[in-house]
Order: sequence, then structure tokens, then C-alpha cells
Amino acid sequence: MDQKNAENNTKHEEIKKLTPSEIRALAEEALNDIPPRVSRWADIMGLTYGRITIRNQKTRWASCSSKGNLNFNCLMMLMPENIKDYLVVHELCHRREMNHSKRFWATVEEYIPDYRDCEKWLKKNGESLMRRMW
Ligand SMILES: [Zn+2]
Repeated sequence: MDQKNAENNTKHEEIKKLTPSEIRALAEEALNDIPPRVSRWADIMGLTYGRITIRNQKTRWASCSSKGNLNFNCLMMLMPENIKDYLVVHELCHRREMNHSKRFWATVEEYIPDYRDCEKWLKKNGESLMRRMW
């Protein structure tokens, strides 16, 4: 591999890892941001939910249990506002449909009409963002 390729390769792999204190700060920020955001959307959507937990993980952005407990990744704080809203609405829609059926996506679309663009943003940026954890 010549020098130019070596440089390109380095550039490609250069993902700036977050430090433990940066992760703590993001988790703190998420604790202030996510619960009111969930509460606002749950009111709009007329849905209830259980506990909200903020996690530092590199496998998923968010999840919703069958009991309605919600988990959100603190890395969401590095995303644009509309993507945060999309992820919150996505999980809340699982309170109606515990699957990704047509009916589920129709519910998402009711509240986030451009949800496909949000999914595209996540496909494009999600992986490198996730790799900043640990
Ligand atoms: Zn889902």
C-alpha cells in the first residue's frame, strides 16, 4: 500500500473515542433531555410508558419492553433534534405495536412524516457514532 492509501485508511478508521468523562456528561445531558421529551410526545400521542433508563451501549439506540419501560442510548445527545424526536416516537409507537409491521410504520409516520429521512440519517451516521463508545 502506498503512502496515499495508508493516509486514506487512517482517515477512514479515525473515530474519536469518547472519554469516560465525556460519556458521563452525555448521560447527564440525556437524563435532562430524554424524560421531558418522552413525556411531551407521550402526551401528544396519548400513550403511557414505564421507567426510562439511559444507557451507554454500542449495540442499539433505544428499546421498549413489553411493560413499556424505555431505554435510550446517551449517544443520542450527539444527534440532531429531529433524530432524537424520531427515536423517542419510534419507541413510543411500540406501545401500540410491538413489531415493525406496516401498521407500526403508519403510526410513526403520523407523528414523524419524514421518518424515512431519519432512518436514512441513522443508516449513514449511526455506525460511526456508535463506534465512539468505548
Ligand atoms: Zn423498533
